[in-house]
Amino acid sequence: MSGCIFCKIRDGEIPSNRVYEDDKVLAFKDINPVAPFHVLIIPKVHIESVNELNESNVNTVADIHLAAKKIAEENGLKDKGYRLINNCGSEAGQTVMHIHYHMIGGKNLGTAII
Ligand code: AMP
Ligand code: ZN
Repeated sequence: MSGCIFCKIRDGEIPSNRVYEDDKVLAFKDINPVAPFHVLIIPKVHIESVNELNESNVNTVADIHLAAKKIAEENGLKDKGYRLINNCGSEAGQTVMHIHYHMIGGKNLGTAII
């Protein structure tokens, strides 16, 4: 998708600090972290948001969750815990229209969802 910054990160046109990659998923550090550990997990295929999921592409969400599990194991978060967040649409604050999950941890995040 031309003009999409996460597609450009996927293609190496914009630099990123990659923490995980497989054939379907890429994860890199958020440029504006809100916690000691803050990475974004994206599918390599361009999907705008949860609103664009359908029966043929919904497996990307499973791929993202399996990647999160591996990233947690590799970064010492598996037992401590972490949070996965997806923002969908303007009122949720989605600023990059390429579906992504924030993986946040490295401190006590408390119980509040927002
Ligand atoms: P959202 O508000 O859910 O769409 O989240 C988009 C996230 O992308 C924000 O947390 C930004 O800090 C992050 N972000 C934007 N540009 C970059 C970039 N070039 N590299 C890494 N993270 C980025
Ligand atoms: Zn994209």
